[in-house]
Amino acid sequence: MTDAFAALLGPLGWLTGADAAAYARDWTGDWQGEPIGVARPRDRAEAAALVRLCAAREVALVPAGGRTGLTGGAVVGERPAIVVSLERMAAIRALDAVEGTIVAEAGCAIAALQRAAAEAGRLFPLSFGAEGSATVGGALSTNAGGIRALRYGSARDLCLGIEAVLPDGSLLDELRRVRKNNTGYDLRHLLIGAEGTLGLITAAAFRLAPPLRVLETALVAVPSPAAALALFARLDEGGADLVAFELIGALPWGAALARGLRAPLPEGPPWWCLVEAGSPDASRPLRPMLEARIAAALEAGEATDATFADSEAARAHLWKIRETIPEGTRALGPALPTDVAVPVSAVPEFLARAEAALARGWPEARFVAFGHLGDGNIHIVALGPAGEEQKAWKRRLAAAEEAINDIAVSLGGSFSAEHGIGRSKLAAMRRLKPPPALAAMRAIKAALDPRVLFNPGTLIPDG
Ligand SMILES: Cc1cc2nc3c(=O)[nH]c(=O)nc-3n(C[C@H](O)[C@H](O)[C@H](O)COP(=O)(O)OP(=O)(O)OC[C@H]3O[C@@H](n4cnc5c(N)ncnc54)[C@H](O)[C@@H]3O)c2cc1C
Repeated sequence: MTDAFAALLGPLGWLTGADAAAYARDWTGDWQGEPIGVARPRDRAEAAALVRLCAAREVALVPAGGRTGLTGGAVVGERPAIVVSLERMAAIRALDAVEGTIVAEAGCAIAALQRAAAEAGRLFPLSFGAEGSATVGGALSTNAGGIRALRYGSARDLCLGIEAVLPDGSLLDELRRVRKNNTGYDLRHLLIGAEGTLGLITAAAFRLAPPLRVLETALVAVPSPAAALALFARLDEGGADLVAFELIGALPWGAALARGLRAPLPEGPPWWCLVEAGSPDASRPLRPMLEARIAAALEAGEATDATFADSEAARAHLWKIRETIPEGTRALGPALPTDVAVPVSAVPEFLARAEAALARGWPEARFVAFGHLGDGNIHIVALGPAGEEQKAWKRRLAAAEEAINDIAVSLGGSFSAEHGIGRSKLAAMRRLKPPPALAAMRAIKAALDPRVLFNPGTLIPDG
């Protein structure tokens, strides 16, 4: 059977054996599954022919981008399948600085879009720690959020059009660059967040933003999440043009510094806020505005210390610390990560209840919390004792994950804010997704992929 794939795709387009080994794992290392082989189509016509071959032979396929997803969706599961990597389709097809759009193939890295936009005097706003490896296809399929969602929204909010191969092998060309297109069901939005279960995204069009000609970044020490929320309100309400507002607990902050990074302020406070404000208007006095409001927060006891990044290197250093948190935390022991969203005003209550629940039920777990306070997306990690095996720890803490998800949902939030469902959150999906929504998802899946060939065992729990 693999001969047919080799004949269709050629030696560069079909990998097996040792050449395919890297595609059996993702960034987390928690998920492993040997693919039958790895298909690397070179263009959309080849991608469509590949999907038709899979349909004819009833071969399941798992789309993969940079494999930085955190829920196991880009790795083969129980059912034998090929991996389809879009890495040979990484071109930027078009960029129009006047209308502010960019069209890129699915294998293009998010950082490459950012660079191309910057060279054209524009901003591609999507930004997160894995942006060097994460791709257009993966970011859309998980509807990635990241640090600037507060200002610009998630991947979905930036996407204008999509090109994809549907499970029957037909090419869906909705690669429009227009902002208005009311012609019925918007299939673009079905494919975004579908985690490769409804089609193979081959390219997408995005809107760009004006560049931020003034960018001010501050690190502020705060005594509590309630104080952080007060600081956020003070800055936001004051028209500080916030781009990012991150909240970071002392433990993950220290874990990142322990990876060899210099501390910008003396350690000690229980919480840190990493705040960024930006404006396309070069004359906008953001620094004095921020300084005045942070000074008022210091006076009111909402903040205890603060420093500004006075150079691009200093700014990059602050963000480097933020981006090192996942790696730094994992180095301390086995980690059970969560990814919830709650209404922004409910963040302090959520954190207090989640910490108390963990302390009550799982006193051996260390409480790690950080996230995008500005959009209500908080990551709590229950960290286990060093030396304990990761999978065993996750099994042992399954009920803790449920408790944290339940608190978020009870506050009107979501049990998966930006990482998607993949295979790691199927139990939560079964338990917490409203049954009518699950039934509608199953009906859509059955209509587009009746033989369940696209990413089986991902996103939709068995009925
Ligand atoms: C250090 C680190 C920090 C991170 N920070 C953030 C963050 O702040 N915000 C955030 O949202 N995420 C974050 N992530 C998660 C991850 O980077 C995102 O989910 C990213 O969008 C995944 O992109 P990828 O190309 O690696 O996709 P993959 O991991 O390869 O795939 C993810 C899913 O998309 C599907 N898929 C991939 N390509 C296609 C395609 N062409 N067509 C159809 N389906 C496809 C896969 O089947 C899989 O289900 C982080 C990850 C790491 C490792």
